[in-house]
Amino acid sequence: MHGGAGRRPISAKQARSLEQALDQGYRLLEAGVPALEAVEAAIRILEASGLFNAGLGSNRQLDDVQRMDAAIMDGRTLRAGAVASIERVMHPITAARLVTERTPHVLLVGEPATRFARYVDVDPLPRHATERRRPTGRRRSHPNALAVRLFQAMARQKVMRKASGQETVGAVALDASGTVAAGASTGGVDVMLPGRVGDTPLIGCGVYADDEAGAISMTGLGESIIRVGAAKEIAQLLDLGWKCSRAADTVLNRLVRRTGGSAGTIVISTTGSFAIRHVTPRMAAGYWDGSGSPIVRDRFH
Ligand code: ASP
Repeated sequence: MHGGAGRRPISAKQARSLEQALDQGYRLLEAGVPALEAVEAAIRILEASGLFNAGLGSNRQLDDVQRMDAAIMDGRTLRAGAVASIERVMHPITAARLVTERTPHVLLVGEPATRFARYVDVDPLPRHATERRRPTGRRRSHPNALAVRLFQAMARQKVMRKASGQETVGAVALDASGTVAAGASTGGVDVMLPGRVGDTPLIGCGVYADDEAGAISMTGLGESIIRVGAAKEIAQLLDLGWKCSRAADTVLNRLVRRTGGSAGTIVISTTGSFAIRHVTPRMAAGYWDGSGSPIVRDRFH
């Protein structure tokens, strides 16, 4: 599992939450639950914790609204579900899973995605979490105020390259039947225009899972991850027989070289080998195969 790649060190609370999520996910796998369900259950723990940039703890866009992205994919059937720019739900990952189960589609976006989540009973965020934090003063209601802020944000795009996202969450798993699954959930990056969507809900960019290759969940600057189609690219290398770590390093290095961005990834193969790799200074992540206790750190070099 990962809790995002970036510069910040992992906090003790975040480390505990990741351990809990790994524990829960592994126990489900041990009980014979499919990888997809274990991935969803583990991510839900991090979304509800308020300690990560997902679900309750999601970043806000420049208009002070939380808009979240999530995706989940099953390696056996290649069924995938995703939501983008969804608002006011505690568990975007569950909304994504329900897109695979209750609709013939892969991706729902914006207000209709939020309405879908309501319809299928995904828990809402508590009211206090969705209230706007800043007063709606005269400056805010000035017709140019939003445009000025958007302009400033765009000027900071250069800063974004370095700032990237942080504390996005994700998971990959291999179940007893040999099926892999991948998922991720995020509130986006630190600075973003209203309506910005990252890599997380885009299948083949933020997540990918295929029993003929493996499962991948990305984190980092979404704009760079999208441009190299990172998750699918790693899957293709696994399909060619590459090791998880070599495939991950190759694609992360290409991402840096071609886009100037930075990212991290968790990768698992259908034989159970896995890699946690990042080109950011840190990446909060952990793993557990059931022996001893879950390992959680913020550097995997
Ligand atoms: N990849 C996410 C995004 O760009 C952010 C992150 O992973 O921290 O939305």
